[in-house]
Amino acid sequence: MYIEAKDLSKLYGNGENSVIALNHVNLEIAPGDFISFMGPSGSGKSTLLHLLSGLDKPSSGSVIYDEKDIYLTSDKELSAFRRQKIGFIFQQFNLLPVLTARENIIMPLLLDKRQVDEAYLKDLTDMLGIKSRMTHLPSELSGGQQQRVAIARALIAKPDIVFADEPTGNLDSKSGNEVMSLLYDIWRTMRKTLVVITHDNQIARMAERQFVIVDGLLSEVAAK
Ligand code: ADP
Ligand code: MG
Repeated sequence: MYIEAKDLSKLYGNGENSVIALNHVNLEIAPGDFISFMGPSGSGKSTLLHLLSGLDKPSSGSVIYDEKDIYLTSDKELSAFRRQKIGFIFQQFNLLPVLTARENIIMPLLLDKRQVDEAYLKDLTDMLGIKSRMTHLPSELSGGQQQRVAIARALIAKPDIVFADEPTGNLDSKSGNEVMSLLYDIWRTMRKTLVVITHDNQIARMAERQFVIVDGLLSEVAAK
């Protein structure tokens, strides 16, 4: 899917205390792009990812997927669209602590009353190296394993687009590198669109297009 952000702004609060988190951002993402966002803490990176992925409404401007403005649809329609087309990976993994790895992974399908494609799940967990961990609770897994479970959850519904907000930010450098090279392989072999926020120069440079955000202003700094 083509994604287009048009004149996107986000303000938090009002009056004297208001913060301009995102300032008239324009961006086009083609199917299969791999994009990285870097920028100082508080510069608006997460805000932009949330707006692009349908998690949070812009104050003004629009987010268009294949010519359809996702914020002009009902909340219910938007949630369904997100579950079917978009995978999201968080810095803090965001796994449900009382569910096993397998239950966490298939949760997006259960919410949509969809069947589990067991062959695909097997391939996915094989590739991510977590197949033997399916009955474990998150607390019984290392950080790297938890993030790989979260990646499987992001991919289980076979989305077109994967957003990742500092996916290695909570990991030591070794498991961080493993997680990032898995994401890179997934992008390359499964032909997903991949949009990653990172503080790591090396990760940013893996992307086809590199962007920097400063004070809510987005600029493209490099393209391959
Ligand atoms: P980054 O991900 O680059 O660290 P964020 O997008 O999280 O930055 O935040 C951008 C700015 O918006 C910051 O000044 C932050 O404090 C502010 N902000 C983010 N979320 C909220 C919120 N829910 N309420 C008020 N201000 C917020
Ligand atoms: Mg952030």
